[in-house]
Amino acid sequence: MNATASIATRHDWSLAEVKALFEQPFNDLLFQAQTVHREHFDANRVQVSTLLSIKTGACPEDCKYCPQSGHYNTGLEKQKLLEVQKVLQAAADAKAIGSTRFCMGAAWKHPSAKDMPYVLEMVKGVKALGLETCMTLGKLDKEQTAALADAGLDYYNHNLDTSPEFYGNIITTRTYADRLETLAYVRDSGMKICSGGILGLGESLDDRANLLIQLANLPEHPESVPINMLVKVKGTPLAEEKDVDPFDFIRTLAVARIMMPKSHVRLSAGREAMNDQMQALAFFAGANSIFYGEKLLTTVNPQANKDMELFARLGIKPEEREEHADEVHQAAIEQALIEQKSSEQFYNAAV
Ligand code: SF4
Repeated sequence: MNATASIATRHDWSLAEVKALFEQPFNDLLFQAQTVHREHFDANRVQVSTLLSIKTGACPEDCKYCPQSGHYNTGLEKQKLLEVQKVLQAAADAKAIGSTRFCMGAAWKHPSAKDMPYVLEMVKGVKALGLETCMTLGKLDKEQTAALADAGLDYYNHNLDTSPEFYGNIITTRTYADRLETLAYVRDSGMKICSGGILGLGESLDDRANLLIQLANLPEHPESVPINMLVKVKGTPLAEEKDVDPFDFIRTLAVARIMMPKSHVRLSAGREAMNDQMQALAFFAGANSIFYGEKLLTTVNPQANKDMELFARLGIKPEEREEHADEVHQAAIEQALIEQKSSEQFYNAAV
């Protein structure tokens, strides 16, 4: 394939085509991904979201990578559904440090009738702060999906995790078909979809390709595609899994960018283990969204300041929400620019 060829938005990818993308020389793949990226996005903007765990641990599902599963003993501190007011305070804090989207995650199989009213209040409250809203609450039925959409939820996150072929090795308590059904309800309700997967579960190249095919061959591409790198947590069955080759991770981001050219590809869990150089390469491969803030559900996330410093060093700016592209990031950007100036001064003095 010509590395510079523009690729139309498609929904009919075959395994052979996707493997051919993966198997290109690394530089050709990255050049192609960056070319596609620039056709649809400002290459120097990255969208920033903050993620808050609103209910932690004791999940009845058995996802083998997850410290929140009640099936494994990881010593994780459980926490009941947070009070609405605490969630709204966390959202206000996230806005103050420059986030444009506030994601709320609950470790549930599905939301219960008892919890739904609180969840809907959280959506309305966060929305009223001028933030985009995203939730991940497990499987949804049609009524719950409609209620969330009515409350103003912008995005629903529901990851496919891996290929349909490998899925049974990782989760046995929820089917792949269940996941696709929830995604279809979300799409029908008019909400945007956030759906991606995890690398490092012991999956093959075909599994990575088939995961991306599942996402890209949906009738509409998910607006947001998180690509996670397994965070190995002691006590989970995947704690001793082999590390992902960093270049294979970057290749997966690049192939996702090419296959879903208009989606935000999110560099997600596992970012803490990546050095600045790898994150820079990830942005070059087409990743243009990160989680920002102190914690990513239950695992450590690089601190917000460190992220802003890296942005400043790379000349990247946080993407602004179209509706209020004014004051939201100003403080964060100004701070990052000050820090960039002082690091330039240090660099100039040192050479
Ligand atoms: S990944 Fe989600 S559904 Fe699976 S065990 Fe963890 S919290 Fe539960």
